Amino acid sequence: MKSQFFNINFEITHSCNLKCKYCYNSTILGNSDSSRSINTIKKLYSKAKIKQLTISGGEPLLSDLLIECILHAKINGSKVAVITNATINNDNKYKELINFGVDFQITLNSINQKVYDFLSGKEGYLKNVLKNIKLILANNGRIIPTVILTKYNLSTIQDTFLFLKENNLNTIIVNRYNLSNNPHYKELTLNHNELRKGYNIIDNLAAKYGLIITSNVCTPHCIINPSDYSNIHFGLCPDDSKMKPLTVDYKGNFRLCNHSMINLGNIYNDSFEDMLYSDYSLSWISSIPDYCNDCEKYDKCKGGCKAAAEQIEGTKDKVDPIVKLNETQPLTCNIKNWG
Ligand code: SF4
Ligand code: SF4
Ligand code: SF4
Repeated sequence: MKSQFFNINFEITHSCNLKCKYCYNSTILGNSDSSRSINTIKKLYSKAKIKQLTISGGEPLLSDLLIECILHAKINGSKVAVITNATINNDNKYKELINFGVDFQITLNSINQKVYDFLSGKEGYLKNVLKNIKLILANNGRIIPTVILTKYNLSTIQDTFLFLKENNLNTIIVNRYNLSNNPHYKELTLNHNELRKGYNIIDNLAAKYGLIITSNVCTPHCIINPSDYSNIHFGLCPDDSKMKPLTVDYKGNFRLCNHSMINLGNIYNDSFEDMLYSDYSLSWISSIPDYCNDCEKYDKCKGGCKAAAEQIEGTKDKVDPIVKLNETQPLTCNIKNWG
């Protein structure tokens, strides 16, 4: 019998045209032989029934097999979303995706070109993103923008949200930068007061303009108390392994969450049941960080993001490292001059 999943993230390629400073996948990005992706999709659907397939990467539009993989997912009854940086100009490809009923999740961290360039690690792409957003909207495509809160885009958050609102992009995902094993993590991380300030700005904008805001990367409740932001819906890290952001890459490697770099196994060789209910997977529920012993908020907070602890501390059994990283490093750019 096939396993049933609400959502699977499928990393169709690990190639990317950007070099984002905040990329949680930076350690696995690189030139990919993504020709394997179609066989992996076929294997995945031979073992699983999937309500929603979210195709990510790398940058999915770099894959020649994107449409073929989407077709296979659609034939098997999945809704499909593509997470893209939308920097690649290819009008026909966007239109084709829209015709297949694909939803787009587009990361837009700032409407300010210098900030956008700095965070994406490449220069001059913002104009492409804005052009492609308008193209998708003009062709009745659905976009959910994603904004990642970092030290560098906090001062431009208001303008970025106003741009989104003016384009009727009223449902927005906002995630705080989640610490990952890349060289920039300290300088990107907002200290706790700045993070609260960022969520306050967004909460007020949501109230003023009727925006629907979700924030899915769990932040420890001793830093961000969800009840202080009544216009933002904060997600929980689910206990049920099947409800986590399960991730399969184009080689068939399977992870509990896209932010975790630990492979549970490979879908070509291992059963979902063995991977999802291994000692390691189950210890995501049973292991409580020392820092959180006796905390009455643990049931909901879970000590923040275990994948971030894994990436920074080398073990998911410690509290989310953002708890202790209140002081950020000196900025490598003077953001006051970014205007
Ligand atoms: S576009 Fe996405 S995959 Fe590519 S570097 Fe940026 S965050 Fe990473
Ligand atoms: S569970 Fe841990 S991280 Fe969460 S609020 Fe309590 S002490 Fe803070
Ligand atoms: S491990 Fe972190 S990123 Fe993954 S679902 Fe849990 S809180 Fe979210």
